[in-house]
Amino acid sequence: MKENYSGIWIFAEQRQGVLNPVVFELLSKAQELKSVTDETITAVLLGSGVSGLADELIARGAERVLIAEHEALSVYSARPYQQALTQLVERYKPSILLYGATSQGRDLAPRMMVALQTGLTADAIDLGYDEDGVFFQATPAYGGKILAHIVILEKRPQMATVRPQIFDPLPPDSTRRGEIVTETVEVAGDGDYEVLACAPKPEGTQPIDRAALLVSGGRGIKHETDFAMLDELARLLHGQLASSRPPVDQGWLPHEKQIGQSGTTVKPAYILNVGISGSVQYQVGMQNAACIISINHNPDAPIFGISQYGVVADYRKVVPAIIAEICKRKA
Ligand SMILES: Cc1cc2nc3c(=O)[nH]c(=O)nc-3n(C[C@H](O)[C@H](O)[C@H](O)COP(=O)(O)OP(=O)(O)OC[C@H]3O[C@@H](n4cnc5c(N)ncnc54)[C@H](O)[C@@H]3O)c2cc1C
Repeated sequence: MKENYSGIWIFAEQRQGVLNPVVFELLSKAQELKSVTDETITAVLLGSGVSGLADELIARGAERVLIAEHEALSVYSARPYQQALTQLVERYKPSILLYGATSQGRDLAPRMMVALQTGLTADAIDLGYDEDGVFFQATPAYGGKILAHIVILEKRPQMATVRPQIFDPLPPDSTRRGEIVTETVEVAGDGDYEVLACAPKPEGTQPIDRAALLVSGGRGIKHETDFAMLDELARLLHGQLASSRPPVDQGWLPHEKQIGQSGTTVKPAYILNVGISGSVQYQVGMQNAACIISINHNPDAPIFGISQYGVVADYRKVVPAIIAEICKRKA
């Protein structure tokens, strides 16, 4: 019975004791949802030795933090996490359960959907209540051509993975007060596989969704070696190299560099698009950048429609000239 379910839950994804910033974004959005239904906002924290993160979650908007610690939860592993979270959901019966659309959230949420026999929207870019007071999740559909509003009418909890960088987090407020509840869970571990070690990514590989400036290359980039030139420009500007999908499909760049519907959503202060036409699938991943600058030799390229600054030119002439000018000014 859906009437027995209430409360907004945020899965408080953490890795090695560090909360993923998307958790703060979801806690902020939950405040907006709460203003409609006045449901309690709970952050659910799974792990081992992670209880110290509860204060940070409260400072970011959680009214209650539910902590379940177990040795088998110390490193993220799908089945132990699914077992623990399923038990908590069955005990507390939240109405809404949100995850970041991160590799962890995208792995865990479908397993939760099966375990709880409920509905799940993948990669939502908006959440809200419609005119009938029904909770909806908006997500691009049909290759990004339409925005589908998905509702889960009968099943509970209503679940969604939500793209990072869509909602603004609340600034931390240490004067906020909240309840901290510690729960026990039965976790059987996983006999099929074992996580042997987790290693941090090497220095210098900041994820593109955390960079303040991106230089993004597309199919218009003629040679793989030209990406070295874009990378040089990105470094000179203290930014990161990124791309549309074709260079990734070509094997020139790893998937983690891809912006867009089937890649990463980014929201940098500046993005410089080079040789990118501006398909809907690309735009959906970067249209919230504060300042969009594009270089394309076709004046009718759709990317110019969302760009604050545009350069109609061959990138092979413009980019070396920009690099030379920066170097001259730095010298
Ligand atoms: C389900 C689905 C998911 C998708 N997900 C993504 C996604 O996540 N990200 C993504 O990017 N795409 C995605 N796509 C693919 C998308 O539809 C486009 O095919 C893709 O974005 C095109 O990339 P592009 O702009 O780099 O290439 P093109 O559209 O080929 O544009 C290349 C541009 O380079 C310009 N150009 C060429 N030479 C030069 C030069 N010398 N100097 C300056 N400009 C030049 C051209 O004028 C052109 O505008 C997806 C498609 C589907 C169906």
